[in-house]
Amino acid sequence: MADSKRDYYEVLGVSKTATEDEIKKAYRTLAKKYHPDVNPGDKTAEAKFKEASEAYSVLSDADKRAQYDRFGHAAFEQGGGGGYDFTGDFSDIFDMFGFGDMFGGGRRSQSRGGNVPRNGASVRATIRITFQEAVFGCEKELELNFKDTCKTCNGSGAKPGTSAETCSKCKGSGSIIFTQQTILGVIQNQKTCPDCKGTGKVIRDKCKDCYGTGYIATRKTIKVVIPAGIDEGQSIRMRDLGEPGVNGGERGSLLVDVQISRDPIFQRDNFDLYSTMPISYAQAALGGDIRIHTIDGDVLYDLKPGTQTDTKVRLRGKGVPYLHRENQRGDHYVTLIVQVPTKLTSEQKELLRAFDDSLNGKKPDGDGEKKKNRFFGK
Ligand SMILES: [Zn+2]
Ligand SMILES: [Zn+2]
Repeated sequence: MADSKRDYYEVLGVSKTATEDEIKKAYRTLAKKYHPDVNPGDKTAEAKFKEASEAYSVLSDADKRAQYDRFGHAAFEQGGGGGYDFTGDFSDIFDMFGFGDMFGGGRRSQSRGGNVPRNGASVRATIRITFQEAVFGCEKELELNFKDTCKTCNGSGAKPGTSAETCSKCKGSGSIIFTQQTILGVIQNQKTCPDCKGTGKVIRDKCKDCYGTGYIATRKTIKVVIPAGIDEGQSIRMRDLGEPGVNGGERGSLLVDVQISRDPIFQRDNFDLYSTMPISYAQAALGGDIRIHTIDGDVLYDLKPGTQTDTKVRLRGKGVPYLHRENQRGDHYVTLIVQVPTKLTSEQKELLRAFDDSLNGKKPDGDGEKKKNRFFGK
């Protein structure tokens, strides 16, 4: 749930600095594409529609957006159920293309408010490594904002000596019921209480150390061990480095997304490597030892005489180590390209003509000019 949740800006395909208009436009496009009415029975479309709607409900609301920018998904995480209510102002969007309100109530998890232990949210970070580092593994340092429960208020966010009061608007439930006129009729709907933002509690006197958030963030440097064989798009989960839990809940995880730089020589497909290598015409014809550049350094390869261009050579076990099984590795496929020489000296041209003549069964007895004369002389 929280772990697999995509960044809201990414979901809508807008930048972090996108204007309200850009956000609305992006959502409208996605909503039109994935709306359940347009894709009946398509679960993927439905999921995408929900994801986009959720992102929009947060980013279209200046308050929620500010909270999200500050705390990420944790700002809206309520309980382990992952319940979420879509309560943004969708009316103007859907009116625009004739869809009714899609968002019935009842999505909310019931564990809102109270003293239920809640696990902390996951935090995401990105690390960029080189191609070689991905193949052989490495250790990297990562700086991150590490949130700890504020000691002054013990995480309550309330000034010491005071405590959070039950929200009068929602009576502590964290949500309010409202009715809405839609093209489908009047729908009773539930939405996050605007006064307490769904926590069910209101802090009158905020703790001055944490400004009422209940957390203190410190800059922390951590070591990330990246295993050999990791591939683009994979991430590393580090337990207990996410946000702190509430009421004795567990700390969330840190998810480190790994981005891998391209390599000028090697391409990768899962655990196999691919490269191309030029060989000379003479090498191709005569065969013999050639040096091939592999991820482990150069190796000698016994080339067969008469090798054609585009021949693929397989170097077993010279690929990428399998993730968490480092003694097993993929293969390296090298495509040999026979080079046709350019910029020949006149001497080299002579030699090539003589060679060509010899292939055609003629005696290497003179230059091309003589040969031509003789031919036309007869
Ligand atoms: Zn505090
Ligand atoms: Zn409330």
